[in-house]
Amino acid sequence: MIVVMKPSASQEMIDRMIRRVEELGMKPHVIVGVERTVIAATGLERNGVQAELEACEEVEKVMPILAPYKIASRETRPEPTVVTAGSLTVGAGTIGVIAGPCSVESEEQIMQVAAQVKDAGATALRGGAFKPRTSPYAFQGMKEAGLELLAAAREATGLAVVTEVMTPHHVDLVCRYADVLQIGARNMQNYHLLQAVGETRTPVLLKRGPSATMEEFLLAAEYILDQGNRDVILCERGVRTFETHTRFTLPLATVPYLREKTHLPIVVDPSHGTGIASLVPAMSAAAIAAGADGLIIEVHPNPSKAVSDGAQTLTPAAFEATMQTCRRIAEVMGKTMQ
Ligand code: PEP
Ligand code: MN
Repeated sequence: MIVVMKPSASQEMIDRMIRRVEELGMKPHVIVGVERTVIAATGLERNGVQAELEACEEVEKVMPILAPYKIASRETRPEPTVVTAGSLTVGAGTIGVIAGPCSVESEEQIMQVAAQVKDAGATALRGGAFKPRTSPYAFQGMKEAGLELLAAAREATGLAVVTEVMTPHHVDLVCRYADVLQIGARNMQNYHLLQAVGETRTPVLLKRGPSATMEEFLLAAEYILDQGNRDVILCERGVRTFETHTRFTLPLATVPYLREKTHLPIVVDPSHGTGIASLVPAMSAAAIAAGADGLIIEVHPNPSKAVSDGAQTLTPAAFEATMQTCRRIAEVMGKTMQ
């Protein structure tokens, strides 16, 4: 349930309510809003608790949270969450663009592409150092050496680094290099991994599992939020359907739907969503028009030579043209592209 404090409630009153919620065996999550503080109390509710808390003088009202995802829900926090990580800002009218190769391959490749995407207007650099590959025989990523190259590219360009973490054992390591931890689609329901990144205070980009429902997606975000990490960015990256003309099917209705249900920022990945580079510019523009807070796009200096996902990867020139179109659509949408 949500305990809405009166705008006049002092910090002392808020602290007292936090203790009260704990005494009742529930977990308090404090959400400081512009006008008032609310305390989302999660866990088992005893009968009569709502009336008991409502009777406290510092409390304005107590409401049940109807959605199964409590902290992610708009009921708990009506204002949009803005996630900031170094050069990247996403949410509440600011569009962030994360661009770079599928995999970090070499110093030359990542330095070159980082400079190219920055020139075209990207606000963060993506690149996988730990790669979840369908085949165990495919390139698995440069691992820590790749993380070092990403940090060097950040040093050179100022771009925040977004990179995947695949296991709880690597969370500390990846946190030493990354500005945003990416949870890949295959790991969306790896609950121990979600909890491990939830324990950090590094922002998280959570990709939707290819067969996850919206409720499963938001409950996965809830695992991270429940551990105290409030900086979660949701990413629609396409789902599995009967259709084979694209790698996945990219459902853009997700964007306005999530907007109604959650305060978390939403980005779209048109690269994995289509699997075909020529379709990426149009779907990037469509994502912005649908109200997305950002994009994550694969770009490589020479896509035909990319070790992974070359077919869906833009050239720097195509990325720059895509950015120009998106900037115009962002303006129509009343948003700023950083
Ligand atoms: C990626 O971003 O390169 C990636 C592996 O994405 P996903 O987890 O969405 O398949
Ligand atoms: Mn990829």
